[in-house]
Amino acid sequence: MVAVDIYAELEALRSAGLYRELRRVENQQGPILLIGGREVINFSSNNYLGIANHPALAQAAKQAIDRYGCGSGASRLISGNMTLHEELESRLAQFKGTEAALVFNSGFQANTGILATLAGAADVILSDQLNHASIIDGCRLSRAQTLVYAHGDLDQLEANLKNSRHARRRLIVTESIFSMDGDEAPLTDIVELAERHDAMVMVDEAHATGVFGVTGAGVVSKHGLGDRVFVQMGTLGKALGAFGAYVAGSRALRELLINRCRSFIFTTALPPAIMAMAIAAIGLIEREPERRERLWENCGLLSRGLKRLGFGLNDCQSPIVPLIVGDAESCMELSQRLLEHGVFVQGIRPPTVPPGTSRLRITVMATHERRHIEKALEAFQESQAQNGGLLR
Ligand code: PMP
Repeated sequence: MVAVDIYAELEALRSAGLYRELRRVENQQGPILLIGGREVINFSSNNYLGIANHPALAQAAKQAIDRYGCGSGASRLISGNMTLHEELESRLAQFKGTEAALVFNSGFQANTGILATLAGAADVILSDQLNHASIIDGCRLSRAQTLVYAHGDLDQLEANLKNSRHARRRLIVTESIFSMDGDEAPLTDIVELAERHDAMVMVDEAHATGVFGVTGAGVVSKHGLGDRVFVQMGTLGKALGAFGAYVAGSRALRELLINRCRSFIFTTALPPAIMAMAIAAIGLIEREPERRERLWENCGLLSRGLKRLGFGLNDCQSPIVPLIVGDAESCMELSQRLLEHGVFVQGIRPPTVPPGTSRLRITVMATHERRHIEKALEAFQESQAQNGGLLR
């Protein structure tokens, strides 16, 4: 009986064009992926700076294993808090220009845990409509009243702030670079509104860490808002090429999370090798701004090329370039066609994005070569023609 229900559920997903399957990558993460024994150009990775396989990270991981072993053995509050966790946290605080930092096992766990720690039933969270699933789940878990404002809509955010004066605490939460749209939140305006209405701000820098700002510290740093944003979180598994996540802020915030945050407390600490990889990655990011320069050159090359081909595109604000198709099936068809032409661009469907906005999410890497981008542009032109001009 239960099994029948499950089959029906899977069938419903299939017939709505929403069925998902895992694709197997058979080599290292880089501009060229081996999928089904075939080389394809990778435009679907968050390894924006292309350092996920950098020898400096690999060597740091090997040395950490030699010195500190493999597993961490326990949660941070039992016996799993090792030298490299604290070393990474000091390094992160310095990198982000904050008093303190705390490492989490993933960005998903960080967001759910932070929101549930900072907000409770007497509080109000003000959340951008396009925030990531982990933020949405964090809002639910917190049991705070959540007021969702339309994407980047400062008027609605202000109206919500005015309507929530009764709350014990108010917390505005937004991504700095939106994961599926690649656009930037109006952070300076959000911070000003928060100050005027006595609210806290939390910024998810998952897609900005390593990519924005003079040293790669993110969008908060780029706008000099570090002292005015209460919580900055980001991931270590995207541009940093490692794994896990961080929270950067005051010492009191770190202490509160260590004491209260369930997704920090009740989980085994990340292994030392991962910490060592992240430390090495921060070094590369600070020392080698040319990786960011290459990334921006590649973004310009791709977006100018797509515009020349007639694709409707907003100005490129980040390495995430969305091409909206609309319905889920056409989107996956186009993605499949591109793959047949040797270019891997994942189609993104609901519930990751709102219904009717299924899209090809193209992500650019610093390690793409000009010929990779030119090949992608050719593939877009041919796939589009074969699909009867679905995009534009
Ligand atoms: N926040 C945002 C905006 C994300 O895009 C992601 C990952 N896709 C996360 C948080 C979760 O991070 P992690 O992959 O480390 O769990």
